[in-house]
Amino acid sequence: MKCQAAVLHGVGQDWAIEEITLDSPREGEVLVKLAVAGICHSDDHYATGDAIMSPELEAMVKAGGATVPECFPLLGGHEGAGVVEEVGPGVRSVRPGDRVATSFIPACGSCRWCVSGMTYLCDSGALLFAKEMTTDGTARRHLGDADLIAMTQLGTFSEYMVVAEESVIKIDDSIPFEAGSLVSCGVTTGWGSGTVGVGTQPGDTVVVIGTGGVGINAVQGARAAGANSVIGVDPVAFKRDSAKLFGATATSPSVMEAMALVSEITQGVMADRVVLTTGVLDAELLTPAMMLTRKGGTCVMTAVPKLEVNMVPLALVDMIQSCKHLKGLLYGGMNPRASMPMLLSMYRNGHLKLDELVTRRYRLDQINDAIADLRSGRNIRGIIDFQST
Ligand SMILES: [Zn+2]
Ligand SMILES: [Zn+2]
Repeated sequence: MKCQAAVLHGVGQDWAIEEITLDSPREGEVLVKLAVAGICHSDDHYATGDAIMSPELEAMVKAGGATVPECFPLLGGHEGAGVVEEVGPGVRSVRPGDRVATSFIPACGSCRWCVSGMTYLCDSGALLFAKEMTTDGTARRHLGDADLIAMTQLGTFSEYMVVAEESVIKIDDSIPFEAGSLVSCGVTTGWGSGTVGVGTQPGDTVVVIGTGGVGINAVQGARAAGANSVIGVDPVAFKRDSAKLFGATATSPSVMEAMALVSEITQGVMADRVVLTTGVLDAELLTPAMMLTRKGGTCVMTAVPKLEVNMVPLALVDMIQSCKHLKGLLYGGMNPRASMPMLLSMYRNGHLKLDELVTRRYRLDQINDAIADLRSGRNIRGIIDFQST
């Protein structure tokens, strides 16, 4: 079948609306008609070049025997929700007509990591940017004669997508598509980061640095986990104001100003938990973030850094003598197949704000406006609505 989709051809370029070709779903695959796609910063990392390996890192990867994946042409989008139109042989978890949300890791359910309750570390993660499907190793998405790479084996900036069954999670018919799309990446990642990922306990002081589409959910997660104080740090006034609506007890425009504020709130003890959810994780942020963290406290890195070898300045004596934890986190440490239905249930019962996250809606052909709004900090979440005309 043919459909309209947004494709990125290289660093520094705009997204191009192109007619792409999708093959029919084969064994273990599903065809989904998208209703909504979310604009997440992770897609933009390919346009800005943040996600492109430096020659230094590329050499190390090749020395280790691994291949360096190509990035373009890239069919974008990894947040989304829609309706299953067709299923290939052997698909059991969904059927045509079901509402589904996407998972940016097609967790296999049987590898060592999946069976240990860490589906976010599934071995299928190695194939997220392969042109071929995780199912049988052949390509299903094409632009003219070329095969397309689909963002994390999804490609939600498209009217339709053909994906592995493991890439979609059934959601209840009563859940609006926007809510389903929101929990597919940003909300789950943020919520997990502010709760189980960073280990928030009742009474904690939690600092969230960067209160955009991911960080704002770390704020509401930390409050739900019982935090006494949640300090949202963001240079954009609109995002600080939004953070208050989602449970921040105080805000600060910069990390340095937060230092004095957190010291005052905690009488010098500093924060039990610090969550890094900036648009791009800057290595320079780590030293002040660790200074914000109390003795024995935990700081998690959720934001995506530039894909290059970073020199990371850390005050090692302080880290060691104060027994501080610095931790990387994917999907907020959540297992999407379990956490998405849980979060949507909380939403239905009024315990999780989702509708309030959507700042603006766009048509697919307005995607570059949506990206411009993301870069300028105008949106908490921008949404592509395929049902609007
Ligand atoms: Zn995302
Ligand atoms: Zn697995």
